[in-house]
Amino acid sequence: MVISNEQLELVNGRIKALIAANNFYGKRLKEAGVESVASAEDFYKLPFSEKADLRDAYPLGLMTAPEEEIVRIHSSSGTTGKPVIIPYTAKDVDDWAIQFARCYEVAGITNKDRIQITPGYGLWTAGIGFQAGCEKLGAMAVPLGPGNTDKQIQMMIDMQSTVLCATSSYALLLAEEIEKRGLRDQIKLKKGVIGSERWGDAMRKSINDKLGIELFDIYGLTEIYGPGIGINCPGGEGMHYWDDFIYIEIIDPKTGENLPDGEWGEIVITTLVKEGAPLIRFRTHDLSRIIPGTCPCCGRKYPRIDKIQGRTDDMMKIKGVNVFPSQIEEVLKLFPEVTSEYQIRISHLDGRDTMRIYVETNGSVDFLDLAGKIAEKVKSRIGFTPLDKVVEKGVLPRSEKKTKRVIDERYD
Ligand code: ZN
Repeated sequence: MVISNEQLELVNGRIKALIAANNFYGKRLKEAGVESVASAEDFYKLPFSEKADLRDAYPLGLMTAPEEEIVRIHSSSGTTGKPVIIPYTAKDVDDWAIQFARCYEVAGITNKDRIQITPGYGLWTAGIGFQAGCEKLGAMAVPLGPGNTDKQIQMMIDMQSTVLCATSSYALLLAEEIEKRGLRDQIKLKKGVIGSERWGDAMRKSINDKLGIELFDIYGLTEIYGPGIGINCPGGEGMHYWDDFIYIEIIDPKTGENLPDGEWGEIVITTLVKEGAPLIRFRTHDLSRIIPGTCPCCGRKYPRIDKIQGRTDDMMKIKGVNVFPSQIEEVLKLFPEVTSEYQIRISHLDGRDTMRIYVETNGSVDFLDLAGKIAEKVKSRIGFTPLDKVVEKGVLPRSEKKTKRVIDERYD
């Protein structure tokens, strides 16, 4: 989706503020001699910003508005290295709540709903985002925060909560407890708004079977407000996002080149109106694509990104094609005769890239026949034929931690 003139105008406002604040991006713009962008072409030449830049700005180097206008900070969890601190102005806080309320609305949640919020409050953006959106919508927040499953279930029954906001793993845990205790009849939940983790269809189905609620994926990241910048509509493909607050482009994570709608790559976000810490062309490392066209489900004009497919670190470029392990996994799921273990080996032989996929099965099937069938399906999914090898169950290495499934021998 090419950046519009209205969006460019907003970007120019942010460029001005960044240069005035003279923070890392302001300096980068000055070095590049950029004072404004006049066209989409100009915009796509702007430098990217990275998580590392944000970390280097610790503690308050991202602050772009005058300090007297900053009303709050949030921080991303600093599991690796220093955390990132994001300052918010009162307008940023309000804009975030507006976006979050819009998410609830798209999910069909109204001011008559009672929203039980289980994500954490504090430095993290989750809990308070769910709450501010709920209040903006006029619904009733039941703010429990994380943990204490007994109390969660008690309040869910006593308050007759209709919406559950949770991570997918906590939603599953609650669903299992409710089922185990035989309390489903006393629960009035209708919808679940699930954020912050990549989760599969199996988990979705399991929560749905146990609670019988409609589930929604909410998208967001601390660097860009927090959760609430996008959500799927009922029955809709992918997630709508709010293009009056953010501009999303998809790039080739290897070359940085902007990709046309429909192609898979890395999500790059520009905040259009953020004051406390505006970001231009921020690389999220999340993999998705823009779904072309208007949503046939709800008809909303807000553009859509597809379900997040993983992280760019997982992506492989083979024969000039971007391939993700999740694509191979999806194909393998079509074959009940193979185990969940697989291994991908990429090598470079006689000037050509080769991808070998190793899968496991038991002795009752014809290995060659199965290998051929899998190779054919993989080709229809990614565009070229892999060398598929079927091996006896138990041959592939197992690990208690994360099993390494992709081995790239090209750069060894
Ligand atoms: Zn829709």
